[in-house]
Amino acid sequence: MATAVQENPLATGLERLPVAPTTLVIFGGTGDLAHRKLLPAIYNLAHEGQLPGRFNLVAFARRDQAHEDYRAIAKESIEKYSRRPPKAEVLDALLEDIQYVPGEFDDPDAYTRLNEMLDKFDADAGIVFNRVFYLSTAPQFFSVIVHLLGEQKMDRRRGAEVRLVVEKPFGHDLATARKLNREVLREFSEKQVFRIDHYLGKETVQNLLAFRFANSLFEPVWNRNYISHVQITAAEDIGIGSRAGYYDSSGALRDLIQNHMSQLLALLAMEPPATFDADPLRDEKVKVLRAIQPPTVEEVPRMSLRGQYGPGTVGGVEEPGYLEEPGVPPDSHTETYAALRLEIHNWRWSGVPFYLRTGKRLARKVTEIAVILKPVPHLAFQQKGSLGVQPNQLILTVQPDEGVSLSLGAKIPGNLMRIRPVNMEFHYGTSFLSQSPEAYERLILDAMRGDASLFTRDDEVEAQWSIYDPVLQHWSESPDRPEEYPSGGQGPAGADELLARDGNRWRRL
Ligand code: NAP
Repeated sequence: MATAVQENPLATGLERLPVAPTTLVIFGGTGDLAHRKLLPAIYNLAHEGQLPGRFNLVAFARRDQAHEDYRAIAKESIEKYSRRPPKAEVLDALLEDIQYVPGEFDDPDAYTRLNEMLDKFDADAGIVFNRVFYLSTAPQFFSVIVHLLGEQKMDRRRGAEVRLVVEKPFGHDLATARKLNREVLREFSEKQVFRIDHYLGKETVQNLLAFRFANSLFEPVWNRNYISHVQITAAEDIGIGSRAGYYDSSGALRDLIQNHMSQLLALLAMEPPATFDADPLRDEKVKVLRAIQPPTVEEVPRMSLRGQYGPGTVGGVEEPGYLEEPGVPPDSHTETYAALRLEIHNWRWSGVPFYLRTGKRLARKVTEIAVILKPVPHLAFQQKGSLGVQPNQLILTVQPDEGVSLSLGAKIPGNLMRIRPVNMEFHYGTSFLSQSPEAYERLILDAMRGDASLFTRDDEVEAQWSIYDPVLQHWSESPDRPEEYPSGGQGPAGADELLARDGNRWRRL
């Protein structure tokens, strides 16, 4: 089976890219993200031979435990969460090299101990390893860790590259994002900083670039002359589970729209960069984000809607409303649904509404971009009883059925000229036989290689927050509660209004 897959010319995975000897330090190495995503991603890189030939992995966290204890936990995580069953010899070789450093994030002595360990790797190997510091910690620790890395002179190293990976969320609003940027850039230069938006590591999101810029078919229609509007949806069918602590202080807009969905919008709408190197690509994303005029606080009610799930039935199961979830304050105004109508004020997109919606406990789980084209200018079949003609729709599905689908009008067989939409489909699962790598595999590898194309730049993160700051401000000051919507449905009825005013409708979930 393995041989058959390798022989298929479409079954290519990641190519082997040269990576310099690297020491990767995970701050927060015992956390949920490290267990479920980072350690399994590192294992899969090892499995594919993608890790540098000389590689050290260090986990830094609070609890006091020996290297062996951490290795045992790491083994369990990899066995449980790796996308492929681990091979004993690869896993054992990886685990053998993992070290654990216990310490508080604000304790300078812990950094001294860490630094001594990193220096010893270099001395033992007789080379200078590049260093990647991965901040997989709660965001309140980002500043102190960066500050102490700087204070201990660990931010630079002669003869090697030192890089900093910062997890999300990058700021809680525009002011805190700016402050964090200042703190990070006081110790590190922008070229050393890799802000994670894990959507950018997803194959389907990168395919958006391939789709737009490796095909000449779409560019001529990719503008206000042919496109009626765009709908970007990130719907979940589950509630907040046990994450009330995080979610109630965040909400749907901060959790998904400000970061991931804004990235989808930027990739969809940006001008073609001259090359896909990090800066030309990010220059174009920043330009298009800045072309979205932030609403004034007064405009917010007309361009946005927030909702909160109430009780309802999902998949035949009765579910509680958000306010009944464990840990949620009974008077919480946090939105579990957000919908926005944005406009891009530039030559290409003037007058084309971009609608964004995200929510929990909706009818189904789907993340998609729908590009709805304008209707044909004249429908000559009208007199022949054709009722089913609809504008073309191009649907890029990010999850769960990754692929692209284009709806076209086709004649229904028979004696009448009756038209109905049919779909042309591309599915990742059937077109490529290789399994897609997880987003974190690509991102960790890119950070070790120093390729920042799929990471968010300082001005980009601020441009994202600038759009949403007035919305967040209005919502935080408004005495109105978010609109309640039943669990398992299409979301709040008020969100339909945002589109109805333009004569449009949401795609059904
Ligand atoms: P977590 O489970 O709460 O883990 C926190 C880590 O920080 C643990 O290793 C913990 O060590 C350590 N820690 C906490 N306080 C410390 C202190 N004072 N000194 C030293 N170590 C300390 O967090 P997480 O869910 O992994 O999230 C990490 C980051 O990834 C966050 O920025 C989050 O927003 C982001 N993220 C998470 C997910 C996810 O699915 N979890 C997804 C996307 C992004 P001990 O275990 O020893 O206490």
